[in-house]
Amino acid sequence: MRGNHNDQIAKSSEANTRKKMSVGIWHCLIIFLSLFYPTTGLKSQGSIVEDMAIKHVLIPIVMEAEATPFVKHLGLKPVAAFFPSNTPFLAFSGEHHNTKVTVITLGKDKVYGTGVDNVGTVSASLATYLALSKLEGDVDLVMNAGTCGGFKRKGAGIGDVFLTTGVANHDRRIPIPGFDTYGTGKLATVDSSKMASKLGYKTGVCTTGNSLDWVEKDDDLMKENDASVKDMEAAAIAWTCAMSEIPYLGVKVVTDIVDGGIATQEEFMANLASAAESLQKALPLVLDYVCDETREEL
Ligand code: SAH
Repeated sequence: MRGNHNDQIAKSSEANTRKKMSVGIWHCLIIFLSLFYPTTGLKSQGSIVEDMAIKHVLIPIVMEAEATPFVKHLGLKPVAAFFPSNTPFLAFSGEHHNTKVTVITLGKDKVYGTGVDNVGTVSASLATYLALSKLEGDVDLVMNAGTCGGFKRKGAGIGDVFLTTGVANHDRRIPIPGFDTYGTGKLATVDSSKMASKLGYKTGVCTTGNSLDWVEKDDDLMKENDASVKDMEAAAIAWTCAMSEIPYLGVKVVTDIVDGGIATQEEFMANLASAAESLQKALPLVLDYVCDETREEL
């Protein structure tokens, strides 16, 4: 009995040693590979998209006014019961050439009884998450399209189309080591520089916060983020994509100049319709570019 027991102990310690050795070998292999293939966060998204055929693009567009011209232009159809019935989000789907396209919008607010569009990070990340879950791994690229404020100091003008190179937050101040980096939440997005020069668009970081206007402290952080444009959803949608390891690209049209001296809300309302038109023109071109199977690189 005891002999048996000792035998078992010897066997199990032998197995443990073997297990430890193989874990050690795996660790070494992973460290070795990661030296040659740095894949932290979304940093290598350019090459991910370069190498893959894009068959299905999910396009979150926050506001109905921003989405409608594009949905009509592509002849996309509403998808009934795409989202759980207690959420306000809407989905439209169809094809553009050989690529499946699903547009989601954030719908209108019922919770606060205002009926306005559900702008901001909370609804944006929730809707994107639900859409990615519903589409069950079928999405190759998330292309977040919408309006934004542009920074004159970074060369932005009204109506300009910006493709993102990265996103970050400017209203999550948590001055505790580790939490500060978490709060800023910087993520690289799909490398859009070649596409932008081909299509004549600008590139830059989109900084996100839950306010349309800004205060002095926001401006310091927006500068720290090296932002070219400012919105209320990009960093949240990119975070949701990062969790699912799905490439994110922001396509943003400037409705107002943040550092220009005119009140944001006036400029935004005056330019919303023309920006939506310009988005409707830009989106099919960006779609054509990313879905072109003869393209060698982004
Ligand atoms: N007064 C508008 C409010 C829209 S909120 C209305 O009732 O229609 C602004 C939306 O446009 C958000 O989805 C945001 O992402 C984007 N946006 C445009 N310009 C912006 C700016 N300067 N700052 C932040 N978000 C901006």
